[in-house]
Amino acid sequence: MRRPNRAVLSYNVASLLRSAPGTSRTYPVEVEALPIAEDVNLAAPIEGEVRLARTGRSILATAELSTAIESHCTRCLRPVVEPINVRIEEEALPSIDIESGRPVDQTDEPDVLRLDQNHELDLAQPVREAISLAEPITVLCRPDCRGLCSVCGVDLNEDPAHEHADEAIDPRLAGLAEWRERSNSH
Ligand SMILES: [Zn+2]
Ligand SMILES: [Zn+2]
Repeated sequence: MRRPNRAVLSYNVASLLRSAPGTSRTYPVEVEALPIAEDVNLAAPIEGEVRLARTGRSILATAELSTAIESHCTRCLRPVVEPINVRIEEEALPSIDIESGRPVDQTDEPDVLRLDQNHELDLAQPVREAISLAEPITVLCRPDCRGLCSVCGVDLNEDPAHEHADEAIDPRLAGLAEWRERSNSH
């Protein structure tokens, strides 16, 4: 008896494995929530389409997915919702031979993505990795973000006219100025 499949991004490909090479199926994706990584959180559902195709020896999964993640502006550190688009292409090999029901010898290819014992293809991990890697190095709240004041850290978007008197501009010189003041007073 086969258990109903409730896991997100998991597909039973038993009948596809029995189909002729070249046969494919597409599935709409609508995932409300998926833990991505310790420091990466979704800000929108994952939407798109997964296409599973039977090749001579495997199942080839391709997916075009869009979502958004919670991020921060690189310049001013404000929270930013960053849209993310990923394309995934994964080949998954059987772990059980569909005809004989016997385990497949995996010694030659120990590191490839495998279908499980019930011919389930679980794409959650490849999707997690693709979304984590898609976060841009530079995220901006707006293209012309002014960032934070390098002296005191105030948000320059809120206070564009903000400036410091000349002697305070370089914090590395602050100690020297203080020392001079002290030696002058003696
Ligand atoms: Zn910003
Ligand atoms: Zn400042």
